[in-house]
Amino acid sequence: MDSIKRLKDLFSKFPAVGPKMASRFVFHLIHSSPTETQELIQAIQAVKNNILLCQQCFQPFEASGQQICQICGDPGRNKQLLCIVEKENDLISIENTKKYKGLYFVLGNNILTLRKINDQDLRIVPLKERIKNSQFTEIIIATNPTIEGRAASTLVEMALKELPQFPTLKITHLAKGLPIGGELEYADEETLDSAFEGRK
Ligand SMILES: [Zn+2]
Repeated sequence: MDSIKRLKDLFSKFPAVGPKMASRFVFHLIHSSPTETQELIQAIQAVKNNILLCQQCFQPFEASGQQICQICGDPGRNKQLLCIVEKENDLISIENTKKYKGLYFVLGNNILTLRKINDQDLRIVPLKERIKNSQFTEIIIATNPTIEGRAASTLVEMALKELPQFPTLKITHLAKGLPIGGELEYADEETLDSAFEGRK
């Protein structure tokens, strides 16, 4: 296959990258210096080699001997609060508000591309295990106000009902106010913060 087309097809698989943007990336690379290209290749390899998924919250983190990420390993975090998000970027947006001090669980990235969701596509089994062996008293379902996010939220709630500690768990959702069809990762910090404050 033509090497321009081959690279363009690979870039087109990236989220939110259409064919035009994919071509722009390819031409940018063609015109960039060998050093820049080498740097990019090495950075991609480093991400693949050095990044692990946290065994507790499933966010990627820079591995240096430990099995859990900085947030999960931080003794200062509130171990009674668990916030369930769809993807890593939602977690980052919530962290950026600097108000939430509990723990997280990332359901998985597949939701966005799937119209039909079932629990195999999400980390429902690991989620149940995580909650079963914990001291959580409140579970905050912070999925996006999109069709996929609402479907994921329903699946999560069904799964929570099967847990032995369900009767004592407080289950909350973010307050309305986030743009309908929008995503947490694009919400401004103030909106996100008040959605957390007003959760019920
Ligand atoms: Zn973690």
